[in-house]
Amino acid sequence: MNSTPTLLQMIEALVCTPSVSSPDASLDQGNLAVIEQLASWLADAGFSIEIMPLPGDSKKANLIATLGSGTGGLVLSGHTDTVPYDEGKWRYNPFSLTQANQRLYGLGTSDMKAFFALAIEASRELRAGDMQEPLIILATADEETSMAGAKALVDRRMPQARHAIIGEPTGLKPVNMHKGMMMEAIHLQGRSGHSSDPALGNSALEAMYSVIGALRAWRDELQQKHHNACFAVPVPTLNLGHIHGGDNPNRICPECELHIDLRPLPGMDPQQLRQELRHRILTVLHDSGIQASFVALLDSVPALQTPAGAAIVQLAEKLTGHSPEAVAFATEAPYLNQLGMETVVLGPGDIAQAHQPDEYLALERLAPTIEILTQMINTICIRRDPLL
Ligand SMILES: [Zn+2]
Repeated sequence: MNSTPTLLQMIEALVCTPSVSSPDASLDQGNLAVIEQLASWLADAGFSIEIMPLPGDSKKANLIATLGSGTGGLVLSGHTDTVPYDEGKWRYNPFSLTQANQRLYGLGTSDMKAFFALAIEASRELRAGDMQEPLIILATADEETSMAGAKALVDRRMPQARHAIIGEPTGLKPVNMHKGMMMEAIHLQGRSGHSSDPALGNSALEAMYSVIGALRAWRDELQQKHHNACFAVPVPTLNLGHIHGGDNPNRICPECELHIDLRPLPGMDPQQLRQELRHRILTVLHDSGIQASFVALLDSVPALQTPAGAAIVQLAEKLTGHSPEAVAFATEAPYLNQLGMETVVLGPGDIAQAHQPDEYLALERLAPTIEILTQMINTICIRRDPLL
């Protein structure tokens, strides 16, 4: 791979190529330039390249770059988008790479563009003919917003492999579990009327009081039934985060809306939870004359649980010297698991620096990451270790 730039040149080029994703169209930049940059380096390195445009968005694509062929194999995966940055709060330019204090500063250094450069560095000497099982470098779009890139992969059933590493910031400790994420809006429609006579209307605000009671009872039941000591908060959570209803003290409240956030543990199915939520609310409103409607504020992200006994978890534990952990943030790992891979989240950055002004990656993390990835590629794709 002589024609590819050095590791730091690659990290710099990726950070200098903006790829902010945001539900706000005025901030959203698309990720195509980053995908094309990665595709160019990986093609030069002998990988076969597939660029998968996201349906309905010409600015966005996933990249599947494969060295070698056959079944099994290892996927090194990451997202190419970043969150927006806080203008005026950065000491350094977020879209250039600044080396200072033994750190690399820039938007996406930790979360998580540098991981691609490290994965390419770890595969620099490889040739397709060396590979007993394929090495796939996977780069996705829109992880920070809709997970549309990962969902498109699931829809297309691509790529297929046995093991996967996602290089999200975990401080080089393997993560095999995280909670899921759901955000739902509950809208109640009643009838307004003069406050002096309750019979003139039907208060959506008072109905919401009953709904909140039902939600709190449901939360208690969920927390008694589901418990996982691997998590810092070992139970599923249900947060009442936003409420709005009514306008005037002397009007019966015609409409009220509540937004909730639910974080299920592994093993809890978001679709079933959504059905249960709706069933409980419709039951409590039965015969009230209040109409309820429901909107998912974002597509739910499933929880992750890759078994601690999975080969990739064991290998990651051996190479890092750390037992697998559970974290509080969601990733694309459940989607890769849906594709049949066993997935571990393991990357050089720290989550404390992600989504923050002056995001950085410590220089001391670079060499150990390359070493871990090299050992993984050797074990899975070249030596084809019989223990795996
Ligand atoms: Zn990330």
